[in-house]
Amino acid sequence: MTSAEAIIQKILSQISLSDTEITTLVTNYTNGKITDSKMTEWLLAVMKNGLSLSETAAYTEAILNSGKQLDFSHLPGFVVDKHSTGGVGDKVSFILGPILAACGCFVPMVCGRGLGHTGGTIDKLETIPGYNCEISLDKFSKIVEDVGISIMCQTSEICPADGKIYALRDVTNTVASAPLICGSIMSKKVAEGIRGLVLDIKTGNGAFMSTLEEAQNLGKLLKSTGAAHGVNVYPAITNMDEPLGNMAGNWCEVVESVQCLQGNGPSDLMDVVYHLGEKALEMVKIENSRAKMEASIANGTAFEIFKNMVTAHGGDANSLTDPNLHIPEHSTEITASKDGYISSIDTLLLGNALVEMGAGRKKITNSIDSSAGFTIHVKRGDFVHKGDNLFTSYCASSKKLVLGVEMMTKSIEISSKSPKLPPLILN
Ligand code: URA
Repeated sequence: MTSAEAIIQKILSQISLSDTEITTLVTNYTNGKITDSKMTEWLLAVMKNGLSLSETAAYTEAILNSGKQLDFSHLPGFVVDKHSTGGVGDKVSFILGPILAACGCFVPMVCGRGLGHTGGTIDKLETIPGYNCEISLDKFSKIVEDVGISIMCQTSEICPADGKIYALRDVTNTVASAPLICGSIMSKKVAEGIRGLVLDIKTGNGAFMSTLEEAQNLGKLLKSTGAAHGVNVYPAITNMDEPLGNMAGNWCEVVESVQCLQGNGPSDLMDVVYHLGEKALEMVKIENSRAKMEASIANGTAFEIFKNMVTAHGGDANSLTDPNLHIPEHSTEITASKDGYISSIDTLLLGNALVEMGAGRKKITNSIDSSAGFTIHVKRGDFVHKGDNLFTSYCASSKKLVLGVEMMTKSIEISSKSPKLPPLILN
């Protein structure tokens, strides 16, 4: 048996791995010595059996050590980041990142593409003409220093192991595992050289952690992993029982983020933005943080910083407000079948409908349809009349649109009773 097979056999037999064995596994997968199918076996075994705390720490360390680590200690401001465990319509990074930079922080943000049914920051950014997410670490550091924020993806220089494992998890249904999420998120965040991190741990029917308890446990794991590397982590928990904001997809989420940066953001989305922002700014004892963040939107500074970041990455900042960009070839409305209250929204189904319509990947090689997405016209608890518009769905293929719409139609429940809703912000 090769050492890779021996390692996988151990995992399948619930025998814990040594630090060295975990490092060997991650290193050999990254450099191509372990195949996708063998790695998938291991990921499936982790989904089933979990990892111990020491295995999780070794896994995180192995991904971290697959690339370089940055040092921003020379910068004259708090170096902080925000990361989400993934949701539908979650575009908070595009709004909060520039706000934090406008408040004097430095924000080096290494993000991922779509994962399972959830959207990815990088796929969204790449819909901006010219925006290059795969820049060198030297360029990344320079943009953070000059603009205050840079958003890039994992590359061969930073957490390459996560780049490869993340892409595999995306298409093998091996995302919803606390140790795998911990390794993926915390390796990237520690490598960024940050001092503070606000995590948005999503819980609900559109999140990988469907219960509050699972979200709390993941929060503890991420916080302790951060502490072991000198990163102060605030594990916020927010509800994902419906899409955040009014749009979900790739380009349409950039459009909605620009609306937020121009002061026209929907209240649920802005509530999450400001909550996470307050927690980040509390770490450096910035007073009146809410007022400062609101001022950065009102006086246009946050939007200016976002545009500067786009330009620094080679993107066309004018395209951000171009109404003729990524116009979908096909679109349709989904209407209410009866009168009543919107009592529940199956957010996982909506995320899967987006993947079906081309906004996410079913195979590693799938390309993304920038125009695919939907606008949701209702929130849970709203009263609708038969025939009212629930969604506008759009994408480049009429065939895919039909499949997506079929799923989206099933996602909404209308009832005669007004539902009891949990708070959006749980921690
Ligand atoms: N975000 C990541 O970067 N990794 C995960 O596994 C989940 C969310």
